[in-house]
Amino acid sequence: MAMADDRPSMASRFLESYSARSAGGDVTVRRHERLLLATWNVLLLVDRSGSPKRSRELDMAAAGAFELMESLEAELSRFVPESEVSLMNAIAATRPVPVSATLAELLEASRRAWEVTRGAFDPTVGPLMQAWGFWGGGARVPDDDEIEQLLRCRGMDLIELDGETGLVSFARPGVSFDPGAIGKGLIVDRLVAHLRAAGVEDGAVLSGRSTLVVWGSAPDGGPWRVGVANPRSPDEPLLELRVAPGAVSTSAAYERRVSVEGVDYGHVIDPRTGRPSSRSLGVTVWTPNSMSGDVASTALFVLGREEGEEILGDLAPISAIFLEADSSSWGGIRAVERHAVAGGTPGFEIV
Ligand code: AMP
Ligand code: MG
Repeated sequence: MAMADDRPSMASRFLESYSARSAGGDVTVRRHERLLLATWNVLLLVDRSGSPKRSRELDMAAAGAFELMESLEAELSRFVPESEVSLMNAIAATRPVPVSATLAELLEASRRAWEVTRGAFDPTVGPLMQAWGFWGGGARVPDDDEIEQLLRCRGMDLIELDGETGLVSFARPGVSFDPGAIGKGLIVDRLVAHLRAAGVEDGAVLSGRSTLVVWGSAPDGGPWRVGVANPRSPDEPLLELRVAPGAVSTSAAYERRVSVEGVDYGHVIDPRTGRPSSRSLGVTVWTPNSMSGDVASTALFVLGREEGEEILGDLAPISAIFLEADSSSWGGIRAVERHAVAGGTPGFEIV
């Protein structure tokens, strides 16, 4: 299992202190947290009723949401040896494997994401992650031949899902599906849907430092406010955003890094080169739901701003912030915002 993030994250501290400040009178915030998906997950559920009965309902909804999250993790984690994903990865190169409806949905979404991002989002990079030592230690720089070999097992076109039978086959041995850049998005969307179906009208969910969803209004009735971390010092907020209901997703090299001979490598691989991408310091996006944001932040991180801008319209509606190294900007970091919202309002406003 991957190491849990230190807690509480900047994003969580920021949102929590904002929501605490904006509560008052009859409005309270029920807070729940659980360690799942190898990170801290925090639910902030707004209670405007002032009634103990309502508080109990919210607590029940939170417990149910975490149960759902736990069962989805058991199904989809590549770090759980008996998960659907691990079984598929072990067998699908040898014979077709039946998969659950949820895994089929994840594979289909991954396939579409791979196409729309021109291969920048590619969850078949698992063997490359392994070779660079991002999992389980042993950080190293693979040589060109090894990367060349591993690139032959890359591409969502090597994973075939038969829509009728629900059977999955891999085109060759060595192919592997790593849901690391999309699975959390799907799980957090399901968790939010559960809370909303249980009648929670205003709330926020944070999962680690990368993922956040807000719906309804903040305790004071206004828009939710969230912080974007400084990628060079992730415990410090760099920007503050006023966000529309939806998801805020971040991909950044600080999330997981390996260091070889004094050079730091971040955990997002450019599938075209088989090497960790170093174009961006961080990318934060607003999207209507968390799965599309998880995909978009990873892909835009790989592509960097210039190439990223070319596909932004295909990812609409989306609002994005690209954080780039720039020695002439304050703190050495430039933040560039871009919106593709087709006439709608941007997903955030920088405060
Ligand atoms: P995220 O933090 O959402 O950007 O996801 C990063 C994780 O996704 C990594 O830890 C890998 O497990 C996996 N990954 C790395 N590079 C890629 C990529 N280009 N496309 C899809 N998944 C990736
Ligand atoms: Mg992602």
